[in-house]
Amino acid sequence: MSGTGRRVVLLLLDGARHDVFASLAARGDLPHISRHILDPGGMTPATTVFPSTTGVAYLPFLTGCFPGTCDVPGIRWLDVRRYRGRWWDDRDQVRSYCGYQGGRLNTDLRPGIATLFDLVPDSIGICTPFTRGLGDGRERAGAARKVWGGLAHYTGGYGVLERAVGRALVRAVREKPSFVFSVFPGVDGVTHFHDPAHPDVLDTYRDFDGIVGDLAQAGGFDGETLVLLVSDHGLSRVDRHTDVSLELEAMGLPTLRHPLVWRRDPVAAVMVSGNASAQVYLLPGRVRERRFALAEIESGAVAPIPADVVRRLAARPGIAMVVATDEAGLVLVSRDGRALLRDVTGGVAYDPVTADVLGLGPPAVLPEREWLARSLDGRYPDGPLQLLQLFRSPRTGDLVVIADRGADLRLDWEVPEHRSGHGSLTADHMRCLAACNVPIDGPLRTVDVFPLVLHHLGLPIPAGIDGALPRYGVR
Ligand SMILES: [Zn+2]
Repeated sequence: MSGTGRRVVLLLLDGARHDVFASLAARGDLPHISRHILDPGGMTPATTVFPSTTGVAYLPFLTGCFPGTCDVPGIRWLDVRRYRGRWWDDRDQVRSYCGYQGGRLNTDLRPGIATLFDLVPDSIGICTPFTRGLGDGRERAGAARKVWGGLAHYTGGYGVLERAVGRALVRAVREKPSFVFSVFPGVDGVTHFHDPAHPDVLDTYRDFDGIVGDLAQAGGFDGETLVLLVSDHGLSRVDRHTDVSLELEAMGLPTLRHPLVWRRDPVAAVMVSGNASAQVYLLPGRVRERRFALAEIESGAVAPIPADVVRRLAARPGIAMVVATDEAGLVLVSRDGRALLRDVTGGVAYDPVTADVLGLGPPAVLPEREWLARSLDGRYPDGPLQLLQLFRSPRTGDLVVIADRGADLRLDWEVPEHRSGHGSLTADHMRCLAACNVPIDGPLRTVDVFPLVLHHLGLPIPAGIDGALPRYGVR
């Protein structure tokens, strides 16, 4: 492959906001990126996946599949098909990629899904928590990620790690592999301590621009190299913390959550992702093959869960909506009322029965790509399909709780406290960065990057993925 000169460099600027990036570029603060990426190509309007959280939101780039299809529905989840309520024996059925189970991201992926690392055998992956399919010696800066990334999580000092990744990137492109995937965790990491437009955050973008200059000097743009610059989600300032576990405890429901996974006889489990969304599992110790439907919960059949639990959660300040299932699809419950979402022939049906929860107007059936275009500049970009895809995973909760703008579902124990967050379905989190040194037609979903990479390398695109090849390379 490397002999053909067709190569792809995929740079993931974790947590980069498209608008912050665009305003820095417009000010002339990103000269290397402008010269090598934006001038010959440009930015494309893009959306990430729900939940919009680090790690989980990397999978679409590398598999072309949504988290629901990958069966990795969040950075924390519980498998009700296997969890019997024994905290030690069943600890494997409760997942948190934030701690010692981090590496499980590689093996939890639904079998049969091919990664870019599988399909492009000379791939190099730099600073990536997801490595499935990478050949021996082809994972780089893994130790730096663990050591410096672990420290920076508490100190916010990401500079050392970013520079180490930059050096590994320069070394990697000199080997001329067909595909390089490189993660820069600094923007996400530094923003958690601040506002998305804080001077320290802006400096992280500017430092990254210097790395793109080094990449160009090392020949990273030579020949027919496609260089993509993407982010896995945006970020927004958090002014309100609503802890779903504490809300449930206040209803008298013993609730299992991290790190208290030893909770005695819990009747609910809350698994938070990215901090602005959470999955709720009812009666977590009762092994079952299906979710509790909203009608069942509201009939009082899931005792001791109160019949009005969904309505009460949805009414809490800081919560935008609670999503549950019915026999035909999803029910979206907000403090104002309810809407329905269904997969139907001809696309996706949205029906704002008593409230326009997604802000998409009157009832309609549209092909899912049209919903993307229609929702792109709204409150919940790509909301319809993103909610439906998540419930494809049997590991997704009975309920999915989504934080409102400016709020998160932060756990009471979390250190350090996050001043900015992500993980929700709101525009601040769902709109992400996509820039390339050739023009790409938008709007783009992050799952579309996977077929784009394979197409540029002249490789076949696997059937059954969620992404679609965008039109690119033409003005
Ligand atoms: Zn991230």
